[in-house]
Amino acid sequence: MPKNNRFLYLLTAILIAFCACGTTARKEPVPIIFYYDADFWTIYDLSRTSFPTQERFEELTGSYIAQIEERLGLTGWLQEINPNADTLVFHLNIQGEKSHTEFPPNVLENEAEVRITLNRKALASVGFDSSLSHELTHMMCHSFSQSLEEGICDYMNDEIGATGFCRELGWDIQEFYKVIPAEYARTRQMSEAELMEIIGFIGKEGIGYPYVKYDTSKALNSPKSTLWYEYSASFVRYLMEHYETEQVVNLIRMGEDESAYTEYLGKSLEGLKKDWLSYMEALEPVHDFQDFEHAIQEFYAKNP
Ligand SMILES: [Zn+2]
Repeated sequence: MPKNNRFLYLLTAILIAFCACGTTARKEPVPIIFYYDADFWTIYDLSRTSFPTQERFEELTGSYIAQIEERLGLTGWLQEINPNADTLVFHLNIQGEKSHTEFPPNVLENEAEVRITLNRKALASVGFDSSLSHELTHMMCHSFSQSLEEGICDYMNDEIGATGFCRELGWDIQEFYKVIPAEYARTRQMSEAELMEIIGFIGKEGIGYPYVKYDTSKALNSPKSTLWYEYSASFVRYLMEHYETEQVVNLIRMGEDESAYTEYLGKSLEGLKKDWLSYMEALEPVHDFQDFEHAIQEFYAKNP
């Protein structure tokens, strides 16, 4: 073999080896063992969804996990639940008014136990689950700031999940996050001072969700807590769109307190919030409240 050809041969071999490595380095999907509470499939009405079998529902769950991993560049989240886990044990149930994610004690060394409760009220009204990708993001992302954690969960739900009506229509969801508080202010359900108070809690360390104390009956359905979620989602979306995904994900998952904003994004929380609010201020919505109301109704009226 002439020297040049040998070189080409070697180069090709290296490229093939490199590509093959790339292929084998691709992660296999996390194996999942599903458990359902006894009444799960009597409440979850598959006939009202576009995934008419339990098998398809499970495929969708696996696909959400893979998409969250890919979009956020997540690795090692399963081992954060149980250090030697190679399998996810997923308990699903439907209850009450609030979706949430819990981590029961791990039973086997190679299994990570997660329990997700889906909101019965939302299921009754829309017929399919509207928060599974949100809850799965909780399973994979914990933060020093509840506002950042709920924000990234809503961000993922808007990106890949059932709340993606804007994504489907090609509308900028930041418009929605601007129009909603404006509507609360316009209809005098909320004063400017109250809106500023909620904004004050966005991105804060710790629970950062103080509305339970004066909205004890239906905390999650009160305008203040709803707005707290929406502002959190808007703030995290702003960060995701103006900084590298890795920086924002590291801030959310690795940060220990508010100094993490400067550490990972090079700016303080107050500075970032100023930037976010200026950005929102300058945003001129093409759609108004009625457009969004109509779009949401249409979206939920048809199957996902
Ligand atoms: Zn949540």
